[in-house]
Amino acid sequence: MQTPFAGSADQNSLPRGDPHSDIEADAERLLRFSKSPSPDPASQRSARHVAEVGSPPQNSTAAAAPSAFRSLAELFVKGKDPRGLPDGDIRQPWNAKRGHGPTHNSTIHPPIAERPRFPIPLGTYPTLWLNKIPGSILLRLFLFNLYSLLSLESRLGLCPDPYLIPQPLCLVLLLSIMSAPAGAPAEGFPVPFFINGIEVHPERRFNVVSPASGKLVHEAASATEPDVRAALSTAAEAFKTWRNSLPRTRRDVFLKAGEIMEKRKEELAGYMISETGCPRQWADFNVSTAREMILDVAGRLVALEGSMPTASDPNTGAMILREPFGVILAIAPWNAPYILGFRSVLFPIAAGNTAILKGSELCPRTMWGLCSVLHEAGLPAGVLNLLFHEPANAAVVTQMLIADPIIKKINFTGSTMVGRIIGKLAGEHLKPLLLELGGKAPAIVWEDADLDNAAVQCALGAFLNSGQICMSTERIIAHKTIRAQFEKELVCAIDNIFGAQTDAPVLINAVGVTKNKKLVEDALSKGASLLYGDPTAEEASATRMRPVVISGVTPDMNIYRTESFGPTVSLIEIETEEEALRIANDTEYGLSSAVFTEDLRRGLRLAKEIETGAVHINNMSVHDESALPHGGAKASGYGRFNAAHGLSEWVRTKTITFKW
Ligand code: NAD
Repeated sequence: MQTPFAGSADQNSLPRGDPHSDIEADAERLLRFSKSPSPDPASQRSARHVAEVGSPPQNSTAAAAPSAFRSLAELFVKGKDPRGLPDGDIRQPWNAKRGHGPTHNSTIHPPIAERPRFPIPLGTYPTLWLNKIPGSILLRLFLFNLYSLLSLESRLGLCPDPYLIPQPLCLVLLLSIMSAPAGAPAEGFPVPFFINGIEVHPERRFNVVSPASGKLVHEAASATEPDVRAALSTAAEAFKTWRNSLPRTRRDVFLKAGEIMEKRKEELAGYMISETGCPRQWADFNVSTAREMILDVAGRLVALEGSMPTASDPNTGAMILREPFGVILAIAPWNAPYILGFRSVLFPIAAGNTAILKGSELCPRTMWGLCSVLHEAGLPAGVLNLLFHEPANAAVVTQMLIADPIIKKINFTGSTMVGRIIGKLAGEHLKPLLLELGGKAPAIVWEDADLDNAAVQCALGAFLNSGQICMSTERIIAHKTIRAQFEKELVCAIDNIFGAQTDAPVLINAVGVTKNKKLVEDALSKGASLLYGDPTAEEASATRMRPVVISGVTPDMNIYRTESFGPTVSLIEIETEEEALRIANDTEYGLSSAVFTEDLRRGLRLAKEIETGAVHINNMSVHDESALPHGGAKASGYGRFNAAHGLSEWVRTKTITFKW
């Protein structure tokens, strides 16, 4: 079967320890979880329903979960391939069939649509040393040597082509191309920038290493001053026309991009898995949620309109225009790269701005994927430009971009620590800024809560994507009367969803694992107790860690305040609403939170008092969708993505008055 990924992949050859090999077990585990005996007859009904029809009933725990969980659960349970793998090899980093092929060592390449299809059956993957040879040279070697075999001139030694080389060597080259093993590492195809609609390969590059395998995935372009200048000037030039483009033109680009996302979903998910080591389900969820967002913005952008207020002088008319800012700088992270990357540029571009996306250096191919979708959809050259830099150059490149007068507004999604640096730079240059930063989401479990639901939602909220979500549940604040029972249910839920049978989940790097282990060690040394997991366990690699829950956490422990951004969660007991609120708010962060209670009045009362940008009653703290504004309070940032607010962020008003 022809797939978006040329070539066949022997899935059985996936090494142990590769995240893809966990997926079958994950799917089974979730099914088992759905079927597991539960003291609650409703859960048993729900489980039977899942087993019989493959989806939870409307009133089941899963059905009551937010869309994020529902979609993920469906991905686990309903995937056509039980391993959740596409037909082709998801590690293969480009779609040769559609001409998104490797662009090798040249400097600038034609736009995707104009690029010739590569005629050699590159379903097989070239070996590392062959990757270093530009494809065009290999092709010419092949054609000219074929020609030389057949032509009289060559037999007479008269063929003048300089590429002609001895037949045995040509044959070796060709055989190497044809027979190289499918799914070989993707080294050698560097990730380019997008500048002025074309792919640019600078001389300078950095390595991108898979956190799952520890191996080089590919190299990526690393920006220096000329690249930054080129991106700035091209974005400024493109703004002159894009700002006046019709809303329906922008809408059509986005609608087309939605179609392309659907067609390229396997390829896009593959980039994310290979670069970030995330589970297949998280990648699929990212791609489908980003696609929804693109369609949502397409539908919304025509609604951006001005107004005509009445001026105080009856002979004076007034109108308020809503104008784009100009060129904006978007900085997006790796942990949900399609959702966060797209949102960082979609809303500004929809409002008529042009953009420079400084993609995460940890997942450049994924960020390239999102830019290539928009370009394939017809986004005019220069409207969206993409840069990366080697990690050591983060400060200098960011400073260069923010300081340039061409940049008119900035959005940054990342840690609060770097957010403060960006905030200072933006302040120094008086640039408006949208900050989406870290979190320390509390989940209050009240005494009347549906404990079955609360346990599942807290387990998912804490450990989805190994806890590497800004909205991840970090503190569970449980009422004294139900604490013991809730702990049992929580342990059961974690076991069922993230059980110990398969390889430990992957984190983005070993630093995250070390940080989480140290936080737990510190808490245990100060009197906390271990409720779930083994923080000292040796896993297959230093980038892996299983869920850990500690209880009896107090303010003197580092984990009480520090965002773990990993698979650890704290449990704290309370007795009164005041106490619950005090602890929920006793953090510098304020992004998301959850409350579990069957009394909606209490839920709303607590929700009103929690200092976070979102509160989810009877749902997990991880919840983000394009119809709902997303953003933080306190040190979690300011400004909003998504919904109508998300568009309004990227226009400023202009007042015009006129005498009748
Ligand atoms: P990070 O802040 O460590 O890195 C973000 C980017 O900052 C990197 O790409 C890096 O190039 C750049 N950077 C690093 N040092 C810099 C410097 N001195 N000057 C300028 N730039 C610099 O964050 P991360 O590890 O990519 O992401 C994890 C964090 O992001 C977590 O704290 C998480 O909570 C947060 N996050 C927030 C949201 C949200 O919507 N609020 C979403 C996702 C992640």
